[in-house]
Order: sequence, then structure tokens, then C-alpha cells
Amino acid sequence: MVELRLPGLLRACVVFCLAAACTADRLDPAAGAQATARDDWEARRARMVESQLRARDIRDERVLGAMARVPRHLFVPEAERSAAYADHPLPIGHGQTISQPYIVAYMTQTLALGSSDRVLEIGTGSGYQAAVLAELAGEVFTMEIVEPLADRARATLADLGYRNVEVRTGNGYLGWPERAPFDRIIVTAAPAEVPPALEAQLAEGGIMVIPVGAPTQVLTVIRRTADGLVTERTLPVLFVPMVGKPGGPGG
Ligand code: SAH
Repeated sequence: MVELRLPGLLRACVVFCLAAACTADRLDPAAGAQATARDDWEARRARMVESQLRARDIRDERVLGAMARVPRHLFVPEAERSAAYADHPLPIGHGQTISQPYIVAYMTQTLALGSSDRVLEIGTGSGYQAAVLAELAGEVFTMEIVEPLADRARATLADLGYRNVEVRTGNGYLGWPERAPFDRIIVTAAPAEVPPALEAQLAEGGIMVIPVGAPTQVLTVIRRTADGLVTERTLPVLFVPMVGKPGGPGG
């Protein structure tokens, strides 16, 4: 048997804390079960951060911290919950998906968010990416074209206490002129070409991350410098197409 060799006071404290934890569970088994479930989700999140993010190329500790905090399982439908921390996208209804955790982290890291940044997201979906942004930025404005998804995301974000996120139902091709300019813009549905309204709403010194192209897409980073826009093409990616191009199909 392993003996705990601790100084008297510390040992008393350990014994007391263990007893308190056991008593709490015995007095309220439901609370005990809930705490166990919460610990289990937290453990899964911690494993996701290590094996899917840190083991690849996510190095920004703030991003890793946000990914470890946001309860992704509460953004996916009940039926998908057990796979919430798996290394792939998941369906969220209405033919849409929540991105793979790595892609969320990669795009967030690329944005290099400052704590007072105003961020525009196009494609709210479940609201998960918006929550990760809200952990790191000042204000998040997120637009979703499918009304029931926007409504659900708004409710989830409010339930979790995110006060710095505004969700709007609308067509992201046009951006959100009333709230522009934005320090950062992130687009999580793929247009064939970069929407001009989004470029126009990017502040000087601003960064936009957007998947561009059809049928294949490249994750594109656009920076507005004093001399104009600088475009860099990075990873091949696969997002749902952006719909509702003004004057185009569905628009
Ligand atoms: N960021 C989301 C996942 C995005 S899935 C998350 O964290 O869950 C892409 C979303 O973009 C879908 O919900 C889709 O309805 C939305 N979308 C597609 N075209 C759009 C447009 N023109 N304006 C706003 N949202 C759009």
C-alpha cells in the first residue's frame, strides 16, 4: 500500500477535502454525477487540445486556452454530442457543419487577435467559432443567413454568458456596414471570390481569413496595409459554399 507522507496540517487538509467531496456527492448524487460529467468533457477537451492542436502547429497559448475553455459539446446537436471533440467536422442541421477543431484553432491563430479587436464573422452556424473569438477579442459581430441557426446560436451564446457577441440574421456577402470597420474578419463559408463589401469593411492594419474558390478552395489571408490589400494563399480547405451572392444563385 502507498502511504501519503505529508506534514500534519497538509494531511488534515487533504483528508478534509476528500471527506468534503465525498459528503457533497453523498448528499446530492445528481450534483456529483453532473460534476463527473463536467470533468469528463473537460478531460476530452484537454486531450483534443494536446493531440489535435498542440501536436500540430497551434502554438498561440491564448488560442489553446480558449479551445480548452469553450464547451464545444454544447454547440452541437444532442445526437452528435459524443463526437463533439473528435478530429473532424460535424453536422449541425440545415445541411451545415461545425468545422473541425483544428480548423477553428488555425483560423483563430491566423487572425492574431488583440483583446480590444472588433471582429466580424460570416457564417455563425452553431456559434462555436464566435465563442472562441469572444474569448480573445473585444467585440464579435457574427452573421448567419439561415434564421433558425442564427436563433439557436444566439440562445447558446447567451446561455453560456457571452455578452460581447452580437448575432444577426442576414447575408454576409454584404458584410455589416453599420458596425464597420472591423479589425478582423473571418469567413467560415466559401465564396467563389472575395466579396468586395468585406474588403471594404476591413480596417487599416486589419486581417481577413477566408476560404475562397469553387469547387476547390484555398484558405486565403488578406491584410490591409497602408499601401492597400496584400493577399496570401495558404491551405487547401473544404467549407460549405457561401450562398446568397447578390445577383447570383440563391441571391
Ligand atoms: N462557424 C460555424 C460553422 C460555419 S458553417 C460554427 O462555428 O459552427 C457555414 C455557415 O455559413 C452555415 O451556417 C451557413 O448557413 C452560413 N452561410 C452560408 N452562406 C452565408 C451568407 N451568405 N451569409 C451568412 N452566412 C452564410
